[in-house]
Amino acid sequence: MFKIKIVKDSNPSLRKKSVEVVLPLDERHKEIISSMRQYLINSQDPEYSKTHNIRSGIGLAAPQIGINERFFVIYLQDENKLYDCALINPVIVEESAKMACLAGGEGCLSVDKDHEGLVHRHNRITIKAYDAISNSDVVLHLQGLAAICFQHEYDHLNGILFYDRIDAFRPNDLKPGEVEY
Ligand SMILES: [Zn+2]
Repeated sequence: MFKIKIVKDSNPSLRKKSVEVVLPLDERHKEIISSMRQYLINSQDPEYSKTHNIRSGIGLAAPQIGINERFFVIYLQDENKLYDCALINPVIVEESAKMACLAGGEGCLSVDKDHEGLVHRHNRITIKAYDAISNSDVVLHLQGLAAICFQHEYDHLNGILFYDRIDAFRPNDLKPGEVEY
C-alpha cells in the first residue's frame, strides 16, 4: 500500500500546475489510486476517522499527496448515486453559465483554517477522462453537489484552492441566478 500523507496549503507544491499522466497506468499509479480511494472510504467512517484523527473527505487530488500529476479520486454518495471514480487527465469540456455554491462554503483536506464565504462554481459541467476504477474512457454530466466536488478536485490540478474563489469583498453574496445547495 502507498502511504497517504496530506500536503497542506502552506506547501508551495499545491500551487503548481500538474502534468499529464502517462497512459496506460503503471503498477505504482494503480497502487497510489487504490490507497487514495481507501483513504476516502476510511475517512467517511466515523469510528475510523476518530481513532486515526483524520477528517472526512469526498475527493482527493494527486497534488494533495505530493504528486503533481493530473488525476484525482472521488468517493461521494449524492442522494441515490455513488460517484466512485479515479479520473486521469480529466478535461472539463462544458460548463453552464448558471453558477452554484454550497450554502456552508467548502472545506479541503489540505486546508486546516476555516475560510468563510461562498465558493462560486458552475452548476453543471461535462468532464471527459480516463477512469481508473471502471478502466474506461468516461464522459460525465454532473450537476449540483457532484459538479461542485469535481470542480474542487479539478482546481487542485491547476494549483487553485477553494478560497481563491471566495469574493473577498462580498463573501456571502450569491451571483445573479446562482443556486445554493
Ligand atoms: Zn481540496
